[in-house]
Amino acid sequence: RRLTVELGERSYPIWIGAGVLGELPRLLEEASIDNRRKLFIVTDEHVAPLYLDKVEAVLRTAGYMIYHSIVEAGEKAKSLSVYERVMTEALEAGLDRQSAFLALGGGVVGDLAGFVAATYMRGVAFVQIPTTLLAHDSSVGGKVAVNHPLGKNIIGAFHQPRLVAYDTELLRTLPSREVAAGFAEVIKHGLIWDETFVEWLEQNADGLQRFDDNLLQEALLRACSVKVAVVSEDEKERGLRAILNLGHTFGHAFEALCGYEKLNHGEAVAIGMVAAAMLAERLGIASSISNRTRRILEQYSLPVALPYVMEADAVIEAMRRDKKGEGGKLVFVLPTTIGKVEIRKDIAEEPVRDVLHALQEGG
Ligand code: NAD
Ligand code: ZN
Repeated sequence: RRLTVELGERSYPIWIGAGVLGELPRLLEEASIDNRRKLFIVTDEHVAPLYLDKVEAVLRTAGYMIYHSIVEAGEKAKSLSVYERVMTEALEAGLDRQSAFLALGGGVVGDLAGFVAATYMRGVAFVQIPTTLLAHDSSVGGKVAVNHPLGKNIIGAFHQPRLVAYDTELLRTLPSREVAAGFAEVIKHGLIWDETFVEWLEQNADGLQRFDDNLLQEALLRACSVKVAVVSEDEKERGLRAILNLGHTFGHAFEALCGYEKLNHGEAVAIGMVAAAMLAERLGIASSISNRTRRILEQYSLPVALPYVMEADAVIEAMRRDKKGEGGKLVFVLPTTIGKVEIRKDIAEEPVRDVLHALQEGG
């Protein structure tokens, strides 16, 4: 199944399906990355033993010259020191401006490899080969970054891939916690845009969690379609694109305070979406949406309250540090109903504090 991100001459296709990997040489060719070019694969230590040989074999058979770098798994790899190491390995491999980087992995590898590609010799081509469910979100849209100890995704760029090749077969080896985290962003795409998609996710929760391939492809296609529609409208986040941050003002703060490993991105966003719904209710922007938000997240085995005690002051402080807090103001994406959100930059601290207290107690 194919989608296109429409961005003029930087438009690119997203291919979703079982067995897409086998088509990679043809898809690269179509994206004008022919086999006279060197390819540099970035992957992590969990994904490499599972899929690297297979990808390299497919590409070698098609005549490509291939190099690779295997980084540590997890958020730690989105750092300047790992970035420098990948740069060094790419330079040693003799990559030039015509070469391309391939990100084989989840959002971490995609963000890291994308940022390397964005800055290597002022920018070379890159291709996303997502291997997590969550990466339906991170692989589309061209936001690439590494973290700084003082903030997540603070060092980054906009650099669109030439191609997203999403093989659903690769998702079968995902640990269950990562599957749930991926569904958090799938659900987010429903909550910001499309109530009928939310209903469909509610109805098909069992089949999806069994990884029924038809349902899975449909879910990814629909979630990616929302992202594509938003990004095609507002590539550089001048306005509309900010709605993709539903649950993220809270979520990034939770992630930062808990440590990325205790609460992964999807889990933090899930709790953050509950918080946003509660805040919207408290402000009178919405009514009775937090229960339904909680219910669907629970259907997908996601947390809906804070698993650790967090001081409200510390959370608010972390939110202000987040780059989305423009000039220290707290910016929230708040649901007005299921399937619609609005962006608010004028929220006082008091209701935010109330919500944080309620979240500690589990609602
Ligand atoms: P991840 O890349 O760390 O992957 C999660 C874990 O699953 C890792 O341990 C990884 O090694 C393992 N893994 C990956 N594929 C596997 C497979 N097929 N089988 C078995 N194990 C596998 O994390 P993620 O959840 O994919 O991505 C999170 C990152 O994405 C965060 O850094 C977040 O900031 C970023 N993100 C970016 C955007 C964007 O627009 N650029 C959007 C959303 C999230
Ligand atoms: Zn996210």
